Amino acid sequence: MTKNVEELKKDYADLLIRSGLNLRKGQRLAISCPVECADFARLCAEAAYEAGCREVIMSWNDDALTRLKYLHAEDDVFDSVNPWEKDFRDIVSEEGAGWLAIYAEDPENLRGVDPDRISRAQKAHGKAMEKFRQREMRSEFPWCVCSVPTDAWAKAVFPDMDKEDAKACLWEEILAACRVDGGDAVQNWKDHSDELQRHVQILNEYNFKELRYKNSAGTDVTVGLPEGHFWAGGEENGADGRPFSANIPTEEVFTLPKRDSINGTIVATRPLAHNGTLIEGFSFEVKDGKITDVHAEKGEQILRDAISVDEGASYFGEVALVPYDSPISNSGILFMNTLFDENASCHFAFGEAYPNIYGAENMSEEELKERGANFSMTHVDFMVGSSDMTITGITHDGEEVPVFVNGNFAF
Ligand code: ZN
Ligand code: ZN
Repeated sequence: MTKNVEELKKDYADLLIRSGLNLRKGQRLAISCPVECADFARLCAEAAYEAGCREVIMSWNDDALTRLKYLHAEDDVFDSVNPWEKDFRDIVSEEGAGWLAIYAEDPENLRGVDPDRISRAQKAHGKAMEKFRQREMRSEFPWCVCSVPTDAWAKAVFPDMDKEDAKACLWEEILAACRVDGGDAVQNWKDHSDELQRHVQILNEYNFKELRYKNSAGTDVTVGLPEGHFWAGGEENGADGRPFSANIPTEEVFTLPKRDSINGTIVATRPLAHNGTLIEGFSFEVKDGKITDVHAEKGEQILRDAISVDEGASYFGEVALVPYDSPISNSGILFMNTLFDENASCHFAFGEAYPNIYGAENMSEEELKERGANFSMTHVDFMVGSSDMTITGITHDGEEVPVFVNGNFAF
C-alpha cells in the first residue's frame, strides 16, 4: 500500500526525531521554525512526545517580519541581540536538550537591504551565540537541521509553476533526498548513513597529508589536512555517546583543513544564498590558508563582508566530499538552500572549523589552533564540485592516491 504525501510528512517528522536527534525519554526538544511551517512543527512535536519528550519549546521566526525589521527598525538595534534570544540557546544547549532547526527561508528575502545592517547583525549574532555554537560544533547536544517548503522558497526554486505545484514538487524532492519513500524511513536512513561511513573509514585509513583539487571551472588548489584529523559523515556520536544525524538530508563526508595550508584558486560552481542575497559566479585566491582576493559576478560586496566578519572568516573550516552522482545533484535543481545545495557538490566552508581532531574534546582552543583548527563566528559552505573534478590524496609517505575521478569517489 503506498502512502499519501501527508503520511510521508509524518514519516519525515518521525525520522527527524528518531534518527536526526535520537531523542531520549525525558529530554526536552527546542524547535526553531518559520511560522509558515507550523503544521510541520506540530508533526515533529507529536513524534517527539511519542518518543517520551519532556517538553517541546518553540523559537519562531518569520521572513516578512525579518525583512520589515531590516528595512524600518532603528539603526542601532542591529548591533546587539536581545538577551532572551541568547538565553534561550544557552539554556537549551547547556541542559543538552534536542535542537531541531527547520530551515526554510526565501533565498532573496533581504534583497536590497542595507548590507551594513546585515553585516552588523551577523556580527552581533555570532558573538551572542558563541557558547551555543561551540557546544553545537562539539556535539554536546543532539541537533538536526531539516527543511520543509515555504511559498517563497518553493517559488524561487520552481519559478514557472504556480505556488501549490511548486510546493508539492519541492516536498517530493525533499522526501526523496531523505529516503522517505513509504518504507521504513529510519532503516533507509541507517543504510545510507552506513554507506557514508564506508568512505569515512577509507579516508581515515589513508590519513592524507593533503588533497589536490583540479577541474575545468578553474579550481586548482592544494589543501593541507591537520595531523590527527578524522573524517566524519552520516551519523555521529554526541558527547553523551548517543548517535545523531546533524543534517537530514546529507550526502557529505567532511573534515577540517589545516588553517595555514591552503594554496591556489578555488572557483565556486553553484550560487550561494547567503544572508538573503544570492552570490553568483565567484572565486577565491588563497595563500597560506588566507583568502587574499575575491571576485563575484553578483553579490560581491555581501561576499566581501561575509569573509570579513572576523579574522577567522577569511580562513577555511571545512573540506567536504560529495559525489557528483548523488540524488540531490542528479535532480539538477538549484535549491538556493545550503542544506540541499551543499549535498549536491564537493564544498568548502570559510569560517569556523568542526573540531574533527582526535582528542579534541580534551583540548583547549589554543591547542586546537596549534593543530590547525580555524575559529570564527561564521561558517559558510560554498560549492566547488563538478563532473570533471579530480582530487588526489597525498599520504605522509608521498604516495599519490586518486580520491575523486570525474566528480565521483575513486573507491
Ligand atoms: Zn558541509
Ligand atoms: Zn559546513
